Amino acid sequence: MVFSCKQCGTCCMYMGDYIEIEHQIGEFEFECSSVSTGTPFLARVDENKRAIFSDKTWLDEHSTACRFLRPEGNLIRCTIHETSPAQCKYYRCVVMRVFNRDGTLLGTVTGNLSLHSDNRKLRDCWEEAELTISHLSADAETQFQKALEAYGYRVE
Ligand code: SF4
Ligand code: SF4
Repeated sequence: MVFSCKQCGTCCMYMGDYIEIEHQIGEFEFECSSVSTGTPFLARVDENKRAIFSDKTWLDEHSTACRFLRPEGNLIRCTIHETSPAQCKYYRCVVMRVFNRDGTLLGTVTGNLSLHSDNRKLRDCWEEAELTISHLSADAETQFQKALEAYGYRVE
């Protein structure tokens, strides 16, 4: 599945504690760290997002959001996309959608191959597949898709 980020901001809404601003070193430059990986990085606000970054109204109303997130029209955008950490740049919230035979959506799978579903049977199938498929293998995504299809699910 080709992933296209819709810039909805959902995945960044609770990242305020994970993307930490250590020091402001310029009007639009910050020394930061990515708490989950312990990696320091230099964040520079993208030139075309400096106006929206400077308006802190939305941020004040969303205390858990990443400090670099801002609304723009119907989008909620990362204002440091060019210098954001790798795990942000390459994050994919959905790489597979899993349906039953009737076409009902039962769950989704993220880019790091985590299943999100409240369907017990699907979760059991996924856990069984995990016993034989390594998340690290280059074609893990394809292998999981085939395993789910073998269980009778439709995967897109
Ligand atoms: S990656 Fe994040 S911003 Fe992009 S569509 Fe998914 S939840 Fe929304
Ligand atoms: S740096 Fe950008 S992509 Fe990463 S959590 Fe913050 S707003 Fe989201």
